[in-house]
Amino acid sequence: MAIRPLVILPDARLRLPSEPVGPVTDEIRTLAQDMLETMYDAPGVGLAAIQIGVTKRVVTIDTSKDENAREPRIFLDPEIVWASEEKRVYDEGCLSIPEFYGEVERPDRVRVRFRDLEGREQEIEADGLLSTCIQHEIDHLNGVLFIDHLSKLKRDRVVKKFAKAAKRGEAA
Ligand SMILES: [Zn+2]
Repeated sequence: MAIRPLVILPDARLRLPSEPVGPVTDEIRTLAQDMLETMYDAPGVGLAAIQIGVTKRVVTIDTSKDENAREPRIFLDPEIVWASEEKRVYDEGCLSIPEFYGEVERPDRVRVRFRDLEGREQEIEADGLLSTCIQHEIDHLNGVLFIDHLSKLKRDRVVKKFAKAAKRGEAA
């Protein structure tokens, strides 16, 4: 396992749509393990493969926020098959946009279909932080960032800030 470098805004790779995983190979298993390690190291509650520069539809999540009781989850090719009409607002952040937060409204509950590392099809219904997180990560697979859900003014401000920092060769 290895910690891989994170792709940070305004890196254009964050806008790439990711491809279906295909057969679950050793490469995919290693990718998922590296993603978990990178996510725990950051630390963050969710990571999409594109955030380490890999355009595969792989997502890792652990919303337990407890180092001693980890609940790692790996989703291959996740897709939302149902979303509640009720909404939920959460102050979101992103490992690719460090130290920036913004309130995003999304469906409160979602049902997600995905494959596990054995290639078996699974379905879960998610609520609370897991629901927010999985919707945020699936957005990444489609080249969408949580700042796209904010007002244009807020989005432009944060993009500009990160673009400036990148030019200076610093982290924001
Ligand atoms: Zn993110």
